[in-house]
Amino acid sequence: MGQAESLLAGGLAEIREGLDRGDATSSEIVEASLARIEKTAALTVVVSTRAESALAEAESASKRIAAGQALSPLDGIPVLLKDNIVHAGEPATCSSRILENFVSPYDSTVVERLQAAGAILVGRANMDEFAMGSSTENSIHGPSHNPWKLDHACGGSSGGSAGAVAAGLVPIALGSDTGGSIRQPASFCGVVGVKPTYGRVSRWGLVAFASSLDQIGPLGRRVSDCAAALQVIGGHDPRDSTSVPEPLPSLVNALTGNVEGLTIGLPEEYFVEEGVDPAVLARVREAIAELEAAGAKTVPVSLPNSPNTIATYYVIATAEASSNLARFDGVRYGRRADKVKDLEDLYMRSRSEGFGAEVKRRILLGTYVLSAGYYDAYYGQAQRVRTLIRRDFEHAFETCDVIATPTMPETAFALGAKADDPLSMYLSDIYTVSANLAGLPALSMPCGLADGMPVGLQLIGKSLDEATILRVGDALERRTDHHAARPPEIA
Ligand code: GLN
Repeated sequence: MGQAESLLAGGLAEIREGLDRGDATSSEIVEASLARIEKTAALTVVVSTRAESALAEAESASKRIAAGQALSPLDGIPVLLKDNIVHAGEPATCSSRILENFVSPYDSTVVERLQAAGAILVGRANMDEFAMGSSTENSIHGPSHNPWKLDHACGGSSGGSAGAVAAGLVPIALGSDTGGSIRQPASFCGVVGVKPTYGRVSRWGLVAFASSLDQIGPLGRRVSDCAAALQVIGGHDPRDSTSVPEPLPSLVNALTGNVEGLTIGLPEEYFVEEGVDPAVLARVREAIAELEAAGAKTVPVSLPNSPNTIATYYVIATAEASSNLARFDGVRYGRRADKVKDLEDLYMRSRSEGFGAEVKRRILLGTYVLSAGYYDAYYGQAQRVRTLIRRDFEHAFETCDVIATPTMPETAFALGAKADDPLSMYLSDIYTVSANLAGLPALSMPCGLADGMPVGLQLIGKSLDEATILRVGDALERRTDHHAARPPEIA
């Protein structure tokens, strides 16, 4: 293995040090990343690359770094974008037939910020169609394969982003999280994924799924890697009306390694044996014990509305999706059916041909819950329960600083295992949707293996307090070596 390849096999920190020491250039790292993407094409985690532009940008980065003028910790570092985050001149298929040939005319805010920081955007990652799913199987590009076990799912919907980091193609990838789509694949693939507070990262240029829930966030090998990436992409953006005005504190300075005196809340509703793989619970409990050994305290907390989160989420998310996806009408964006009879036929045929089965199911559900006779019974009711869920967290955070739970009730399932059973797929979101409904920051990080497959620990924080969940995650990482475990099936 050459110098650039072995640096790439590490995380962001290793690559950064190697670049700054002059052990390799950004051009060599980006070449190595592109070569590895090509070599692992069968994983179907990357759906498009921009080799020529990336290499040209890497050349400038190499010069800056050699002159001691690196722009940021991400300068010269290869990064992947989930395929729903737009980048001028590049495709943004959202894994949908309807956007198969769409090329974005503009840059998202996160792309602008990554490029201003010198990051090299090497390509785009596979996902569930319009981010609807928990397995990255609903994709025109085909399912993503989990690097830990190739016939298993990466999780979803940011499965390509998580799989790519796990397989060592890039040290950082961006995903989006509406009900768990960053944390779930991070858990299944044994990497770290952070969903920031709602409004912390601009959604300008993120193709909308459910606008009151969607957030962009980073995936990486280590908590500190994700902190560095969040520092670059986060902070107020006037172009997103839901962007929070509060400045982002220094997340890197927050990583002190110290959790002495910190209180971790353990929701009693999340630590029941029923419906959870006991090995997953065991790993999560070991991680919590490790934090206790480091000086943190634990207290039981209660989130009494937990049994209602899935139903609430699937009413609100589908309602918002049905409205957001109305824009794909064959007129302005993407696929347009040909030889149509009239306008209605154009809408019908473009949408019928363009959307996949899961997206159609969500549009039907969402249109139903918003329809005149049912609006209050379903959508109105879900909004009221959402308020109760938010209050549960406010109450719990009166006695603790962070909340710890499993990220997923199980390790990665086999491809196809849930593909024909939407309800069982929706139930895998049981631990993740509440943070979105309450707008809170949450991360998933590796906490060991069960039967050779990664298990994720979820840490949920107070609103705008990414710093504390990152500090706790980083402290755990310093005491353990779960982040160093590598998928055996990928050389
Ligand atoms: N699995 C959830 C869903 O299918 C979450 C998706 C997401 O966070 N984008 O809606």
